[in-house]
Amino acid sequence: MNEYLVLVVEDDKPIRNLITTTLKMNSYRFIKAGKGKEAIMLSASHKPDIIILDLGLPDIDGVEVIEHIRTWSDVPIMIVSARGDDKDKIAVLDKGGDDYLTKPFSVEELLARLRVTQRRLMKTENVSVTEFVNGALRIDYVSGCVYLDDEELHLTPIEYKLLCLLAKNAGKVLTHKYIIQSVWGSPADNSEASLRVFMATLRKKLDDSSQALIQTHIGIGYRMMKL
Ligand code: CA
Repeated sequence: MNEYLVLVVEDDKPIRNLITTTLKMNSYRFIKAGKGKEAIMLSASHKPDIIILDLGLPDIDGVEVIEHIRTWSDVPIMIVSARGDDKDKIAVLDKGGDDYLTKPFSVEELLARLRVTQRRLMKTENVSVTEFVNGALRIDYVSGCVYLDDEELHLTPIEYKLLCLLAKNAGKVLTHKYIIQSVWGSPADNSEASLRVFMATLRKKLDDSSQALIQTHIGIGYRMMKL
């Protein structure tokens, strides 16, 4: 029996069956989902080693699934999609996808890609934490909720992304450029100024006027302190 657990996310039944049959014949363990939200739940509860993900799903887009899972996990995500042009591929890989297989694909190709991913897994530890706690702050990555002393905070999507990035790198100083690229993708002319604005409102919501939680390094960036 193969030790790896694969999560197959695909709403198209014939393709899903082709993938799961291939996995079964090659002794992989697998679980399956037909919707994006189900995939997010399953990846949190079962902690699969590899995810095979279709982009066109009936509830939320596959790209959104990647973004969500990436807030807490580095699990390899292999995209299986009919969207074949380079711009789409780059966009998905930028969001944290690991590999890209264009439909229609052969079973041999799928297996070859899985073997490559497994070799990479043997080299790196698969970090998967679903919750972050630091002092009074708690981030529940699965539901996307943030709590301060058990009271839920209402953050905008950008503020949430910012907070997750700082949390993931707690103790480390992150440069303005790194933060802007991680949160917005590409830097704009006024991005440092808007980062300061977002950080100020985030701090206010976190009741962090004393900068005990998020430190400002003038001219460099920010750091979340480990409390
Ligand atoms: Ca689909």
